[in-house]
Amino acid sequence: MSKGSCLVVGGGVSGLSSAIRLLENDWEVTIWSSQLSPNTTSDVAAALWYPFLSAPVEKTNVWGSETYDVLKVLSRFPQTGVSMTQTYEYFREKQPDPSWKDSVDGFERLSGNLPEDYIECFSFITSVIEMPIYLQWLMDRYEELGGDMVVKKVQDFSNIGSEYNFIINCTGIESKTLLDDDEVYPVRGQVIRVKTDVKEMHLDQQIPTLAYIVPRSNDMILGGVAQTNDWSLDARIEDREYILEKCIKLIPELKNAEIIEDMVGLRPGRSEVRLEKEILFGRPIIHNYGHGGSGVTLSWGCADDVVELANES
Ligand SMILES: Cc1cc2nc3c(=O)[nH]c(=O)nc-3n(C[C@H](O)[C@H](O)[C@H](O)COP(=O)(O)OP(=O)(O)OC[C@H]3O[C@@H](n4cnc5c(N)ncnc54)[C@H](O)[C@@H]3O)c2cc1C
Repeated sequence: MSKGSCLVVGGGVSGLSSAIRLLENDWEVTIWSSQLSPNTTSDVAAALWYPFLSAPVEKTNVWGSETYDVLKVLSRFPQTGVSMTQTYEYFREKQPDPSWKDSVDGFERLSGNLPEDYIECFSFITSVIEMPIYLQWLMDRYEELGGDMVVKKVQDFSNIGSEYNFIINCTGIESKTLLDDDEVYPVRGQVIRVKTDVKEMHLDQQIPTLAYIVPRSNDMILGGVAQTNDWSLDARIEDREYILEKCIKLIPELKNAEIIEDMVGLRPGRSEVRLEKEILFGRPIIHNYGHGGSGVTLSWGCADDVVELANES
C-alpha cells in the first residue's frame, strides 16, 4: 500500500537515488527537474568513490560506507557502468590513515617505486562510476519502479501543489538561490576526457596538487582543479595544460593520450551536507544537497536517510 506521494525536485545523482529508494519503500514519486542527464553536474563527475570536499566527516563516513557497499553490488552488473578498480593514491608528505580506511576493500600502504616527488602511497579498491551510463541506468530503474519524470523548473517552493505529502529538495548548487542559502558555494571543476588504455586509477587528492586518472571502459577522465567561488562553466586552456602536466607527472605514458573533450562542472560546496527536514511555507520539505565533491560517493547513504525522514511522519 502506498505511504503517500513525494515530489523530488532535481534529477541528478542525489534526486534519482532518493527517488529510487522512496519507490522501493512504497512511496509514490514524481521528479521535476530543469535538466536531466547529460546536462547535470552529476554528468561531469569523474567519478570515483572517494569522500572529497564534503562534511561533516562523522556523517560522510557513514553515508560513504553505505554507498560503497551498494556500488560494490552494482559492479556485478556491467549495464550499471560501475566497476571496482585497483587504485593508488600518492602523497608528498607522511599521512595518517584515512577516516574511510575500513570502508574500502584491500587497503594497504605501499612504499618504493613511487612517481617523482611522492613519498607515500595508499593502495585500495574503489569504484569507478561511468556517469553517462550510470545516470541512464538510474533513470531506467526509476521508470521501471513506476516513477514519473517531468522536465520542469521550480521557481519557488511555495507554489507547489498540496497533492504531495513531501517535497524532496535535490537541486545541488541551485539550492543557493532557491533557498537563499549563504552556506552554498561553487567549487569549479574541469576534467579532460581522453583515449588511453591505462587500467588502474592513480590519484593525488591534495588540493594544491590535485590530479586524478580515472580509467573507464572506452575512455579515461583526467583531472582536476577545485576552484572555490568560481562560477565559470567555460573550459580554460590553462586548466587543461595544468591538468595534463600533473597527470603526466604521475603517469608519463599519458603524454601521448588523444584528447576527446574538456568538461566543466560546479561542485555544490557547502559548510555541511544539508540532509534534514524543515517546514517551509507550511509544508514539509526534506533537503538533500551540498555534497561538494562527493555527491556520487554519498548518494545511496543519503537516499536511505531521506527515506527514513519521510517514513518518520
Ligand atoms: C569535475 C568534477 C568531478 C567530480 N568528481 C566526483 C567524483 O569523482 N566522485 C563524487 O562522488 N563526486 C564527484 N563530483 C561531485 C558530484 O558531481 C556532485 O557532488 C554531484 O553531482 C551532486 O549531485 P546532485 O544530484 O546533488 O546535483 P546535480 O547533479 O547538480 O543535480 C541537480 C539537479 O537539480 C535540477 N534543478 C536545479 N534547480 C532546479 C529547479 N529550480 N527546478 C527543478 N530542477 C532543478 C538540475 O537540473 C539537476 O537535475 C565531481 C564534480 C565535478 C564538477
